Amino acid sequence: MKGRIQKIQGRIEAAALRAGRDPAAVGLVAVSKTHPAEAVREAAAAGLTVFGENYVQEARDKIEALSDLDVSWHFIGHLQSNKAKYAVRWFDLIHSVDSVKLAREIDKQAAKRGKVQDVLIQVNIADEPTKSGAGEDELEALCREAAGFENIRIRGLMTMPPFFDEPEKARPFFAALRRMRDHIAGLGIEGVSMDALSMGMTGDFEAAVEEGATWVRIGTAIFGERQ
Ligand SMILES: *Cc1c(COP(=O)(O)O)cnc(C)c1O
Repeated sequence: MKGRIQKIQGRIEAAALRAGRDPAAVGLVAVSKTHPAEAVREAAAAGLTVFGENYVQEARDKIEALSDLDVSWHFIGHLQSNKAKYAVRWFDLIHSVDSVKLAREIDKQAAKRGKVQDVLIQVNIADEPTKSGAGEDELEALCREAAGFENIRIRGLMTMPPFFDEPEKARPFFAALRRMRDHIAGLGIEGVSMDALSMGMTGDFEAAVEEGATWVRIGTAIFGERQ
């Protein structure tokens, strides 16, 4: 696994340099969903420090089994409001806030724990009916409302473009997310910082890095195919 991870890190670095970016500005979220705790342990031993999970229950078992590791967990899946409590408990960054209702619940749960929860707003960049995320037309209003919650800090945007077998086809969607980020950042909404862009997966992360990703979420290239 170490060799695979080093190869990916090399590709991220090369993509950043091609775009004139600092490679240190791109973080790697190792997406460990469906893979056992032991695989995460191996990846951590190879130097990875941030892991992404999609399902609260699955994540909880793994996080508990790995509580001796000094790693950070990000929630990247669709989050139901009734699970917000657990997400706030275990995750340093929630990538997938897509409604005021969810933001309100995260805020409430974070307040109970005396925590300010870092979140990203998920954007449904191609308006796909099967994907969650705010539409472009809803994004500004959602940012403004969520920014009003005291125990949430909006750090940026996340997206998952349509699936293509050709990564270049995803590029325009990554560029579009970056433009939305710049637009929202330019509004200067209090409580909103737009430093983070979470985009790019196994099949397309180099294009995402070239277009400004600060988090790439990579599963298959690290852990192998999911069952
Ligand atoms: C599963 C998943 C990933 C990782 O996908 P790979 O193609 O395996 O790298 C990234 N982001 C999200 C939101 C996911 O659900």
